[in-house]
Amino acid sequence: MDISVVIPLYNEAESLPELEAWIRRVMEEHGFSYEILFIDDGSTDDSWEVIQRLREDNPAIRGVSFRRNYGKSPALNTGFARAQGDVVITMDADLQDSPDEIPELYRMIKEDGYDLVSGWKQKRYDPLSKTLPTKLFNATARRVSGIHNLHDFNCGLKAYRGKVVKRIEVYGDMHRYIPYLAKLAGFNRIGEKVVHHQARKYGKTKFGLDRFVNGYLDLATLWFTGKFGAKPMHFFGLLGSLMFFIGLVAVILVGAIKLWNLHHGNPYTLVTSSPYFYIALVTMILGTQLFLTGFLGELVVRNSTRRNEYEIETEL
Ligand code: UDP
Ligand code: MG
Repeated sequence: MDISVVIPLYNEAESLPELEAWIRRVMEEHGFSYEILFIDDGSTDDSWEVIQRLREDNPAIRGVSFRRNYGKSPALNTGFARAQGDVVITMDADLQDSPDEIPELYRMIKEDGYDLVSGWKQKRYDPLSKTLPTKLFNATARRVSGIHNLHDFNCGLKAYRGKVVKRIEVYGDMHRYIPYLAKLAGFNRIGEKVVHHQARKYGKTKFGLDRFVNGYLDLATLWFTGKFGAKPMHFFGLLGSLMFFIGLVAVILVGAIKLWNLHHGNPYTLVTSSPYFYIALVTMILGTQLFLTGFLGELVVRNSTRRNEYEIETEL
């Protein structure tokens, strides 16, 4: 099969018939063999009924319906697990992404050798309250992930080489960072294509402004797990050592000042009147905590069944 189109959706009943007809037209015009995987993320409208109806006319449609709303990432992950195409395309269900982009995305994966091609909504039809923070967000994501050529990490329209989606795990809200997940999994050929974007026609957006706060937290998590996931002590131990070092200097100062005063017969002062005493106290406690966190982290890693799971590319 050439293409799997994975579509996560939550209460998008009005958009689905148009979207399906459009995808079908593009696929038939280009003679692709394909499947459409609708992942109904616990919709409360009649999205699932619409999908069942559409399937009667188009056997290329497959569907999964969640019992409750889990989120876009779980929906994508479920679609990825089921996709059978050589190339997997993800798109939003709200008609903001255009199926006309599919043939070129397919070509870029097949002929240009990309592992992942991300859409770039260069001209966006979204409110300013969304586009402005997005710019900032993307700049941060570029820096942290080291994928410098992407302008739009969170674009719903993306294409993947089939094996890429089988080797990454999208969970929580990590759909914003799929290119980063792919890179951490060793897929470096990541490209971008400018795509047409449209204003939402039906329904309303499912994400509020909290997306940006959560987005940054998730980025921090990915950075940490990507770098130190298998060796947490290297992170906590470094910070802990730094704290202890500061504490050591402070302790020496406290002692030295005390001895100096005694030796020179200065008026009697308590060590607790020195600021260095408190610095030593705080940094020593923090340092201990950091080391203990590091040890706990190491115990967790040691018990992980995945600690020695590697993706082997070839073997002789
Ligand atoms: N979506 C989903 N589960 C959710 C929230 C959203 O499957 O919990 C789907 C939604 O139906 C749409 C896509 O994810 O197909 C993108 O959502 P939306 O259009 O609301 O995001 P925006 O375009 O505003 O970034
Ligand atoms: Mg949308």
